[in-house]
Amino acid sequence: MHKVHLKKIAVIAGAGPAGLTAALELLRRSDIKPIVYEADSEVGGISKTITYRGNRMDLGGHRFFSKSDWVMRWWQEILPVAADQTPADGPLRINYQRRSRDWVPETAAPASADAVMLVRKRLSRIFYRRRYFDYPLTLNAATLNNLGILEALQIGLSYFRAQMAPRSPEHSLEDFFINRFGNRLYHTFFKDYTEKVWGVRCQEISAEWGAQRIKGLSVAKAIGHAIARPFRNLTLATQEHIETSLIDRFLYPKYGPGQMWEEVARHVTARGGDIHRSHRIVGIERGGDSVRAVDVLDISANSVQRVPCDYFVSTMPVRSLVEFLRPEDSHLLRIAEALPYRDFMTVGLLLRRMNSPAGSRNGRPGMPPDNGMPPDNWIYVQEPEVRIGRLQVFNNWSPALVADPGTIWLGLEYFCREGDDLWSMEDGRFIDFAAAELETIGLIDRRDVIDGTLVRVPKAYPAYFGAYREFDTVRAYLDRFPNLYPVGRNGMHRYNNQDHSMLAAKSAVGSILDGGHGKTDIWRINAEDDYHEEIDTPS
Ligand SMILES: Cc1cc2nc3c(=O)[nH]c(=O)nc-3n(C[C@H](O)[C@H](O)[C@H](O)COP(=O)(O)OP(=O)(O)OC[C@H]3O[C@@H](n4cnc5c(N)ncnc54)[C@H](O)[C@@H]3O)c2cc1C
Repeated sequence: MHKVHLKKIAVIAGAGPAGLTAALELLRRSDIKPIVYEADSEVGGISKTITYRGNRMDLGGHRFFSKSDWVMRWWQEILPVAADQTPADGPLRINYQRRSRDWVPETAAPASADAVMLVRKRLSRIFYRRRYFDYPLTLNAATLNNLGILEALQIGLSYFRAQMAPRSPEHSLEDFFINRFGNRLYHTFFKDYTEKVWGVRCQEISAEWGAQRIKGLSVAKAIGHAIARPFRNLTLATQEHIETSLIDRFLYPKYGPGQMWEEVARHVTARGGDIHRSHRIVGIERGGDSVRAVDVLDISANSVQRVPCDYFVSTMPVRSLVEFLRPEDSHLLRIAEALPYRDFMTVGLLLRRMNSPAGSRNGRPGMPPDNGMPPDNWIYVQEPEVRIGRLQVFNNWSPALVADPGTIWLGLEYFCREGDDLWSMEDGRFIDFAAAELETIGLIDRRDVIDGTLVRVPKAYPAYFGAYREFDTVRAYLDRFPNLYPVGRNGMHRYNNQDHSMLAAKSAVGSILDGGHGKTDIWRINAEDDYHEEIDTPS
């Protein structure tokens, strides 16, 4: 009699970078069959690209960079770099948030190909008092001119006052900022933006959180440099180092980040993996400390099916995972339910032209010089009277994101909370409101708006305050399940970039293939890294 060889099944919740990496790695390295369920109708998770009437939106602006060679190679195997993007001689220096590496593309594709990555140069500035400030902020003639000499003096004085009489003990993030930068600079550049981003007053965020995150606070570093520069005896070499580090470069798929994940999804299905879009995991069947099956809702058919599995890789929010596991310990359940998130909305706005306020440097090579489009990839909006946080200029990420090169395609980004006044606003009203905000601060004239669309991104940011303080209890509980692998950004409640989520997925596959060894090491990924997507400050 023939022995029937049944493949083992790994059910994967979510087709974002983590879920798709896990699926492809399982297929490459084992004969375990991945079955991916994705609640959304598209793959890519937060890293997907939304297409609206031929124009493509990147939710947040996703730079592709990693310290990990493995990740850099992996991406290029899927999308090679276009031949005209790299220097003919020698390596390309890629910089990302003051990290830098020399890098030689693995393969090059014809410059005219569509399935390629571009090498982009980053420019982002701060928009404050209707003027552009360098980002990171530098104490140069332009900054002093923008601030006014009186304001600059007051900032300096307030900084010295904070140094002479620091707040002690440091309880809150406000104390933390003021002790380092002075009251005036805190109120000018930190307070409003931090509160806009996280939706919590700086007095209510712990000082430890600041200490933990300060490495990632790019403007904090920049302002630190700016303040320290006149007072420290900087050598020329150090200054040179600072200048070079400001020239950031990164990789970017020609059609936005979603292109990468759509390609990966194609590889997964071509190798025999299953990806079910519009299928949400709504329940888990446990057998003691093991996941036996998941309940999957087919959203279009409105029917639920039970799917048995040998392994369960979850990239869904920890909150949902714990709820589905139904722990006996009600305290644990309460922690998971209370884990904080920050949500995100972005308005795609198509324009004929923009205004050029004072202090602007407009015109990127190859772009029409007279339509007022700023050369930035994104702009941090610090103006206190508007609620917009950042402005993306999609044309400058990749010209291929824009259907008509004569138009300007913007992303107006708002940090909010699911259900708050912004989130609940009707789409059309919100688009009008967002356009009116840009008009208020003088960047556009609403008569130049051609079209607009709105995208809501729930749980865009897992936050590190509130119930997160007790996250270790949740983690210890999840670690009890040998065949359960929580990975990814919301999957681990970790402030991940794509590469961190991918590395966690890679480790999960390694552990599955190694009989569960190294499972707890997955939590070490991105525990200390300080290069995240920028949001904390004007970043
Ligand atoms: C504004 C912003 C800017 C960013 N910039 C960068 C950047 O410059 N560079 C960078 O590398 N990263 C950046 N990131 C981070 C990047 O978006 C994430 O790290 C990445 O998408 C995380 O991948 P993931 O697979 O872990 O999670 P996600 O992308 O969140 O994917 C999880 C998927 O699971 C699905 N899901 C959830 N629950 C269920 C369920 N019950 N059943 C089925 N499916 C479910 C979701 O629909 C989603 O598709 C940025 C993020 C934001 C918000």
